[in-house]
Amino acid sequence: MTKQLLMIPGPIEFDTKVLSAMSVPTVSHVAPSFINCFSNCISLMKTIFRAPKGQAFIVSGSGTLAMDMAGANLVENGDDVLVISTGYFGERFKTILDRYGANSTILQSEIGGVVSLEAIEKELQSKPYKLLTFTHVDTSTGVRVNPKPIAALCKKYDTLCILDGVCSVAAEEIAQDEWGIDVVVTASQKAIGVPPGLALLMVSPKAMLVWENRKSLVANYYSDFANWLPIMKAYEEKRPSYFGTPPVNLILALEVSLKQIQEEGMQKRFERHRFLAEAFVAAVESIGLELVCKDNKNAAFTLSAVRYPQGVQPVDFLGAVSSRNVIVAGGLHPAIKQEYFRVGHMGIISSSDLIAVLSAIEYSLSKNGYDFESGKALKTFQDILNQDN
Ligand code: PMP
Repeated sequence: MTKQLLMIPGPIEFDTKVLSAMSVPTVSHVAPSFINCFSNCISLMKTIFRAPKGQAFIVSGSGTLAMDMAGANLVENGDDVLVISTGYFGERFKTILDRYGANSTILQSEIGGVVSLEAIEKELQSKPYKLLTFTHVDTSTGVRVNPKPIAALCKKYDTLCILDGVCSVAAEEIAQDEWGIDVVVTASQKAIGVPPGLALLMVSPKAMLVWENRKSLVANYYSDFANWLPIMKAYEEKRPSYFGTPPVNLILALEVSLKQIQEEGMQKRFERHRFLAEAFVAAVESIGLELVCKDNKNAAFTLSAVRYPQGVQPVDFLGAVSSRNVIVAGGLHPAIKQEYFRVGHMGIISSSDLIAVLSAIEYSLSKNGYDFESGKALKTFQDILNQDN
C-alpha cells in the first residue's frame, strides 16, 4: 500500500514512537507503571500549558467533550456568558453553554476577521459577565486571535476566561498562568500529537473555586469535575483510583508525545510552526491564491485555509491532490464551505511534508485548468528555506 500523507487540521501525522506506545500490551489502570505514567502526563501538561498551579483533567473523549466539561462545570442556569466567535467552533461553544442554561451573547467576527478588543471591552462593560469563551485558532477559518489582551480584559472585568485551544495548544504560544486564562481546553489529535480520543483541560484555581461554589448540581454526570477531580489528584499523588476506565494505551502514548514536545522546547516549537506556516502561505500566495484569513498577521500557524481560484471545483481539486497521496481537507465554515480548502501543518511535520503538499497542490491546480507559473509555489517555499540556512 502506498503511504499517504495526512495533512488535514487533525488528526495529523503521528510519530512512530507515539504509535508504538499504543501497541504494547494494555496494563491495568491501577498498575504502578500506569499510575506513574498518568502522574507524568499531568506534570508535563502543566509545563506545556505554562500553568504550574493549574488543575489538569485527562479524560476519554474528543475536544468537544473538553468544551462540554468546561461548560457543564462552570455555567449555571441564567448565567450571563459572552462568546467571542471567529467561526464554526465559536458557535459550537455557544450551543454548548446554552445547553447548560446560559444567557449567552455572541460577538461574531466577519468571516476571516477577528472581533476587535474595543468591541469585547464595550460588551464586558455593559453587564457583569460570569465568563467569556474564545477560540485561539478557529479551524474553520484559519484565524488566530491573541489570547493575552482578551485575558487581560477578562481580569479587568472579573470575568472567567475560557480558551478553546484545540487547534493551538503545543504549537501556538500560550502562557496560561501568566496571561490569566482560567481554562484551556484541547484534544489529543492535533499539535499534542496523539491519535484522537483524549479531552484535555487545564483549570485555574480561580475557576475551580467557581465550580466549588456552585449552587446547583452539574447537569452532566460524565463531565462533572466532582467525579474526575479525586481521580486526577490520586494519579498526581501516585495512588490507585477509579471512576471511569481511562484509555490506558492512549495515555501511554500521551506521555511519549508530551515528553517529545518538552524536549523540543516550547519556544523552538512555536518558532518552527511559525516559520513553516509563513513559508507555506508565501508559497501559495506566490501563485495567486488567497487565504480566508483577511490579515496575514492573524493567520494561524497550525493550519492554512486557502481559497480556490476562480473555476476550480472542490471535489476535483481534492481528488487530484489525493491522487498524489496527500490528504488535505475541504472547507468547514458553512457559509463558504465550497470556496476553500484547509492544510494542517502542526505537530511533527517538517518542510519536506510541505514540499509534498505544495507539489500536489500545483499538480491539482494545473490539472483543473488554473493558469499559473508551474513550480513557482515550490520555488518560493524552497527559497525561504534556503534563506534560513
Ligand atoms: N475546537 C476547535 C478549534 C477545533 O479545531 C475542534 C476540532 N476540529 C474542536 C473544537 C472539536 O474537537 P473534536 O473534533 O476533537 O471534538
